[in-house]
Amino acid sequence: MEELCKSYGSVVAVRNLTLRVEKGEVFGFLGPNGAGKTTTLNMLMGLVRPTSGRIRVAGVDVVRNPVEVRRVAGYLPENPGFYPGMSVEQNLLYFAGFYGLGRGEVEELLELVGMGEHAHRRAGELSKGMRQRLALAQALLNDPEVLLLDEPTSGLDPGGAAEFRELIRGLSREGRTVFFSSHILPEVRAVCRRVGIIHRGRLVAQGSVEELSRGRGVRIVVETVPPPPEEVLRGFSERVERRGGGYVLHCRRDCREELSRALVRRGCTPITLYAEAPSLEELYLEVVGEA
Ligand code: ATP
Repeated sequence: MEELCKSYGSVVAVRNLTLRVEKGEVFGFLGPNGAGKTTTLNMLMGLVRPTSGRIRVAGVDVVRNPVEVRRVAGYLPENPGFYPGMSVEQNLLYFAGFYGLGRGEVEELLELVGMGEHAHRRAGELSKGMRQRLALAQALLNDPEVLLLDEPTSGLDPGGAAEFRELIRGLSREGRTVFFSSHILPEVRAVCRRVGIIHRGRLVAQGSVEELSRGRGVRIVVETVPPPPEEVLRGFSERVERRGGGYVLHCRRDCREELSRALVRRGCTPITLYAEAPSLEELYLEVVGEA
């Protein structure tokens, strides 16, 4: 997408969003509530017309051909809707009809998302996790090259979320591109190589977690015998925290060598000394805070 904008009256939901996701990539789209994630996904899927800008999804110009994109992309919306009185299988068969698919393909998809044994339950009585699986099966009906998932694991229990992540990884191994929005940062870290962070409609950071952490300092974890005098640690960092039997120093750069020498001079032998990159949570909070 290039210079994508969407305004609702005076509310600018998305501003000048330029982002490229490579084929086969799993890309995490992060942002606080109201940042513009759903609006972006709806525009990618041709459901909301951008105020300005360009979008290509698997070669389809979405602004010109908002219907054509449904041939190449599958969408799992934030709140998927089904016919509550119909069974899981009937729901999927109904949508499969649009693509000329039959019972065989539907059964295969239900197995793939782990819903085979629930095929005859009424959609209205499914748990949240089961609904998400059924919605994923629906998104996969047209064998899409690109999957757009809007907070696919929100509300799932940890086991369900882990299985869902495994499904996403499997889909990416098949060569599909996955673009998904989420608030759950460890999960994004677990499945995405790259992430984009959107805040108040603006893309405030994008890249791999390593790229995002560049220039943002480093944490040094140290433990010595006997314990180090705190003033030595404070000579290296203004922020010193206790962790377990040791300390964490927030430093501008990796100063392990100098630190180690200074500690040894004071008669303290380092038994733990390593540098740690900031977590995605810390990066996210920092980037959003700065924005
Ligand atoms: P959440 O994480 O809470 O789902 P989001 O990042 O998906 O949030 P959006 O739903 O895209 O955010 O909303 C972005 C902004 O656009 C918000 O200020 C929202 O109120 C506004 N907005 C979204 N849809 C409409 C609409 N149809 N009419 C008017 N304003 C809208």
